[in-house]
Amino acid sequence: MSKFSGYNFANQRALIRVDFNVPLDKQTLEIKDDTRMKAAIPTIKKILNDGGSVILMSHLGRPKEGPEDKYSLKHLVARLNQLLGFSNAPSGDGGAQFADDCIGEDAKQKAAALKPGDVLLLENLRFYKEEEKGDEAFAEKLSKLGDVYVNDAFGTAHRAHASTAVIAKFFPKEKRMFGLLMEGEVASAEKVLHNSEKPFVAIIGGAKVSDKILILENLLEKATGIIIGGGMAYTFFKAAGGKIGASLCEGDRLDTAKEIMKKAAEKNVCIHLPGDSIIADKFASDADISSSLSTEIPDGWMGLDIGTMACDMFTKVILNAKTILWNGPMGVFEMECFQHGTKTIAEAVAEATQNGAFSLVGGGDSVAAVNQFGFADKVSYVSTGGGAMLEFFEGKTLPGIAAINE
Ligand code: AMP
Repeated sequence: MSKFSGYNFANQRALIRVDFNVPLDKQTLEIKDDTRMKAAIPTIKKILNDGGSVILMSHLGRPKEGPEDKYSLKHLVARLNQLLGFSNAPSGDGGAQFADDCIGEDAKQKAAALKPGDVLLLENLRFYKEEEKGDEAFAEKLSKLGDVYVNDAFGTAHRAHASTAVIAKFFPKEKRMFGLLMEGEVASAEKVLHNSEKPFVAIIGGAKVSDKILILENLLEKATGIIIGGGMAYTFFKAAGGKIGASLCEGDRLDTAKEIMKKAAEKNVCIHLPGDSIIADKFASDADISSSLSTEIPDGWMGLDIGTMACDMFTKVILNAKTILWNGPMGVFEMECFQHGTKTIAEAVAEATQNGAFSLVGGGDSVAAVNQFGFADKVSYVSTGGGAMLEFFEGKTLPGIAAINE
């Protein structure tokens, strides 16, 4: 049993760092997507069911100079009440309370008065510059609000901020822990990176090689094979002397691409590039569309999706894998005419998962793709943390994880 599941929160005030950084409508300030709030509910409920109380802290958006109404977490209270099943509670009786400053007298008093089953949401942590600076005194003030510290914000685990990392040291080891969401994220990521059943195939796509160099280099130490798709593939083709027309290319990364290919050969890691591409005469959904070998793209045309041969080849590699990591789309999946490749890969990952492989999908755009194509529940794990997940797979130590484990 995990530390969190085994802990009895009865009569404890749990201070939980959640990631409630949800998108709000600019005009109405209504929540556009509550996925991140939903993700924290099992952790909150376990604590309340044990007979504990909960103090929730989060950031929202990027406030510049102190408090701004459009970044206030008060806009989340009604949805929080619904998600917790408090929707019919008369106000002040069973509904979540709100403290309009995350530190100070009001927050202190409200936290101290919490009874078992109560929930208190604190105002945006980033209304204080001290949060992002990882200020110790600020972290200590926050820590005084709870008896136990629970970090359930994987999305900010790569930041050494006051509430995500620095705060942990003000709690003894037995009173600081991951919540259920964070436990799931860390366990899946560790399984893939440190404990993968082979063959381990990583699928890396997206626009730029420059964003993915560190993850590619680290995966060369871990993976059996790496599928490279999306816009970044064309820098590799160009580096090998191919004709890529007007496809995306980072001229200053040609040597990096060559270096990665060389290292892969030395380490016996198979790099799979898309042999053919769906090409277009402009970056638009009403473009003229054709297909060609990825090394023979005519002048003025650009590769915007992987071709049918590449789909078949990648599918075979994926179906043979026992562990799969997927970050980044295979093409411009936002446009219907260039989404076939990404969809095919999603299907293959789902099928491999059904056949017993462990699959982890992470990073903003690949998560958006599996959601859009309806495959989110057909893969083993969909990570909620874009930047955090990328840094984990780059081999970096995430401050939010280290602070709990130290
Ligand atoms: P990233 O954030 O690096 O994972 O990149 C995701 C973006 O890459 C998406 O918006 C895709 O539309 C874009 N993308 C994927 N394939 C291509 C391509 N062949 N050419 C241009 N952009 C691409």
